[in-house]
Amino acid sequence: MRLSEIYSTEYRKQIQTNIVFEGEIKPIISFEVFPPKSQNTKLFEELNKLQKYNPSLISITYGAGGSNKDGSLSLVKGIKNLEIATPMPHFTCMCSSEEFLESYINELESLGIENVLALRGDRPKDIEVCHSSFKHADELVKFIKSKTNMSIAVAGYPEKHSEAKDFHEDITNLKKKIDAGAEAIFTQLFFNNDHFYRYKQLVRHAGIFTPIIPGILPITSYSQLEKMTSMCNVEIPKYLSQQLEKHKEDIAATTEIGIDFAIYQCQQLIDEGVEGIHFYILNKAYSTSEILNAIF
Ligand code: FAD
Repeated sequence: MRLSEIYSTEYRKQIQTNIVFEGEIKPIISFEVFPPKSQNTKLFEELNKLQKYNPSLISITYGAGGSNKDGSLSLVKGIKNLEIATPMPHFTCMCSSEEFLESYINELESLGIENVLALRGDRPKDIEVCHSSFKHADELVKFIKSKTNMSIAVAGYPEKHSEAKDFHEDITNLKKKIDAGAEAIFTQLFFNNDHFYRYKQLVRHAGIFTPIIPGILPITSYSQLEKMTSMCNVEIPKYLSQQLEKHKEDIAATTEIGIDFAIYQCQQLIDEGVEGIHFYILNKAYSTSEILNAIF
């Protein structure tokens, strides 16, 4: 099923049956996972625990520069066989040749993959020689479109991509990805919904009407959060960081703070009418299932 169908009002109404939801139309639920260092079995157990929430998509990260391509592909195959939700592999073009990318998409297509998340990626620090056939994600979108019939999602940044001079520049560049054929935008994680609302307004104002799916991270570790947010441009609201700071060494308390905060964030986003919510589950079911129990 293509992204434009998954996020359509008709489909959202159709899948509403499994969970009692008192709002108007339930948002589509999706999860992001990454290839585990060892076997996929534990992750599959976690995903099985989340099956009852009727996810529509599971996105699978891809190592920068094609590193861990095999781990990513093996996970894509495993998730396809699990039949919990449609897999959506991520796919980056930084430090990759056109030939390499073409053979990877062919491999995905031969597995019956219909949707991919097309990204530029970042240059890995440990790579000395980096030859990229494509400079930006819009070129990758065009390339995938020219070679396959796949449906393509791209990344969006509610707090602006760190390299962009301003929002105008970033959204002009986002529009290039949509004009090249992307059907949905998945956002970077954020903790202040006001950034998302403002971003959505700017994107719509630029004439982009594809679904914009907010990325939600249930926080489970303060140090991990600091590491993740130091790599991208993400505000942690003061009252949240103060609470987390107080319980820094206490994983259980941090997890509960993360769950409560994500519930609050998701409830507001649902009231705002988002088409979907994409959870960065970090390969664990507990926090996301607590959040979904609370919001539906
Ligand atoms: P682009 O869209 O190319 O944008 C990068 C920068 O260039 C922006 O500042 C943009 O404004 C500018 N730009 C874009 N197009 C043009 C143009 N035509 N001309 C001039 N400037 C332009 N990374 C991974 O390595 N693996 C993953 O699995 C992964 N998954 C992700 C999932 C999501 C939902 C998100 C939000 C990010 C993910 N990332 C992943 C991180 C991502 O690769 C980085 O954020 C990267 O820096 C930008 O990728 P992009 O596709 O947004 O690039």
